[in-house]
Amino acid sequence: MAVPLVDLKAQYAPLRQQLDEALGEVLEAQRFILGPQVEQLEKEAAAFLGTRHAVGCASGTDALLLALKALRLEPGDEVVVPSFTFFATAGAVWNAGLRPAFADIDGRTFNVTAGTIEAALTERTRAVIVVHLYGQMATLAPIVELCRARGLTLIEDAAQAFGARQRIDFKLLHAGTIGALGAYSFFPAKILGGFGDGGMITTADDELASRLRKLRVHGGERTYHHEMVGTNSRLDTVQAAILRVKLSHVRNWIERRNLIAEEYDFRFKKLAPDVVTPLRTPENDHGYGVYTLRVRDRDALKAGLDARGIGNAVYYPVPLHLQECFAELGYREGRLPESERAAREVISLPVYPELTEAQVAEVVAAVREAVAGA
Ligand SMILES: *Cc1c(COP(=O)(O)O)cnc(C)c1O
Repeated sequence: MAVPLVDLKAQYAPLRQQLDEALGEVLEAQRFILGPQVEQLEKEAAAFLGTRHAVGCASGTDALLLALKALRLEPGDEVVVPSFTFFATAGAVWNAGLRPAFADIDGRTFNVTAGTIEAALTERTRAVIVVHLYGQMATLAPIVELCRARGLTLIEDAAQAFGARQRIDFKLLHAGTIGALGAYSFFPAKILGGFGDGGMITTADDELASRLRKLRVHGGERTYHHEMVGTNSRLDTVQAAILRVKLSHVRNWIERRNLIAEEYDFRFKKLAPDVVTPLRTPENDHGYGVYTLRVRDRDALKAGLDARGIGNAVYYPVPLHLQECFAELGYREGRLPESERAAREVISLPVYPELTEAQVAEVVAAVREAVAGA
């Protein structure tokens, strides 16, 4: 039995009537850009996440770009980002006219720590973007403290972690609501995905929220009057209507993702040390946007999974400090060893909520067989 890495048809089937109705309403109204549906989604998402403002935009990449532009930093200012993340985290820094400074990760969680961030700070550092990779939040209390002490703005890239939570001072706080700004992606395969591209920025700061609302429509409140140079980055009405339906299911979906991840953890623990399961830290409610193993012989496991039709992916094979486009920043191999090692060893498995027991068993069997045969 083949098992795809993601199966959006399986998510659509039970929601078909609700989603078709939501889509039908938008088609009937023929209003496609922003509008009341986007405002409603922003209100509902802000309430769900427990923050003051949510601002829809065109993608997760733009969410990061607009967040950075809203900070009004100087050209050439540095922003610390993890090396081990999706390209957009660093690409947005570059496209905002700023310089990425790469931080290493903790190899057990795949996330940056206060220590790895501190090692990347220079005189010119003005902000830090933490990424909650694979759906588990980076441990934020010490990072918030470090940023406060050094006068740095903290942005959370929560593109893979919509709905993930962390206990801080006896409060359970959502990913993206702890730093000054949070960025989310509604790319179809993310925990909360639309029918195309979409994104959102959250903030508790009224001034930043007001700037973000201008920046997404070319930097002005009144049409044809521009206080800043923004861009066109609006959330489509169609996406907002779809996302409003899906938002009401996200908590259940995350629970289901956790059950599947627990089953994998249990089954794969026996394969140590050839296979290492992802560490879930006690303060976190993991979102399991992605379930990622580290393996000694990744090529062998990948070949075994491919042969049995089991969807898998390597997020990400090249750490960003070694990407060709950032060569001029002068990073050499060996500089960020944990990021480099993770890039060689990680492989991700299907973890979407609609997976059946039989499919999970199939994935487990395929991994076991491939590891035993290696
Ligand atoms: C997906 C993703 C983004 C970008 O989101 P898009 O909606 O695809 O532009 C940014 N950062 C991380 C960590 C992501 O996984």
